[in-house]
Amino acid sequence: PGPAAPATAKPDPLAGIGAVIAVASGKGGVGKSTTTVNLGLALRAQGLSVGILDADIYGPSLPTLLGLHGKPAAGPGRKLKPMQAHGLRAMSMGLLVDPEAAMVWRGPMIMSAITQMMADVEWGALDVLLVDMPPGTGDAQLALAQGTRLAGAVIVSTPQDLSLIDARRGITMFRKVDVPILGIIENMSHFICPDCGGTHAIFGQGGARDEAARLRVPFLGAVPLTMELRAASDIGQPVLVRDPEGPLGQAYDRIARAL
Ligand code: ADP
Repeated sequence: PGPAAPATAKPDPLAGIGAVIAVASGKGGVGKSTTTVNLGLALRAQGLSVGILDADIYGPSLPTLLGLHGKPAAGPGRKLKPMQAHGLRAMSMGLLVDPEAAMVWRGPMIMSAITQMMADVEWGALDVLLVDMPPGTGDAQLALAQGTRLAGAVIVSTPQDLSLIDARRGITMFRKVDVPILGIIENMSHFICPDCGGTHAIFGQGGARDEAARLRVPFLGAVPLTMELRAASDIGQPVLVRDPEGPLGQAYDRIARAL
């Protein structure tokens, strides 16, 4: 069977948005959501208005990452108003559906939930909307890639072969539906030991950079594996809010400028 029908909704609910950019990873747990949030904050720091749509139905982590509480309010026309956090507009599947229930949904259920979320949120005017995609390259992901007016896709991978194989699948999927690949970000590229000061290539070295060259897509930059990044995410205070001028802030700033 061919790809599922595009999940279009009329009128275009994303009409007021300059560029819709998907952030994807073939594999889960590589830091896609963490990257989305910090990239969003880096773009915001450049003066852009930014929204984040957490479409990762399998593990919606935006509420935790941004410290969102409560439920989104309904605005005029019963559309949902995005929530606000750290200067970003945000909406998450995790605020609308029970993630436990969604775990066992089949592709069409996921697609209709995502399509509805797309249509029901009043984003208003935005320069950029980052869509935190569900990991994987199944029907739901394909429909989302096809049915959303995407300006491009950013792929997040660790340097590990296993993650890179899935990243490659992601790139193939976006190419299949003519979505330009804006580049690859290598997350967890190395670990700087706070005790010995040494640099450790836990998931191998330079894998994503090499893969980007092989696939002829831009390499957008690398982000190290740090305790600070993990701890900041867990309390809903992203590193770019806590320490925008620090080395991690600078790394995300460079990535955002490379986009
Ligand atoms: P995904 O969206 O790909 O499933 P997440 O962004 O939720 O991944 O990240 C998975 C876990 O790894 C989270 O606990 C997150 O805090 C942590 N993490 C992600 N990137 C880093 C990093 N560069 N350094 C330390 N921890 C990280």
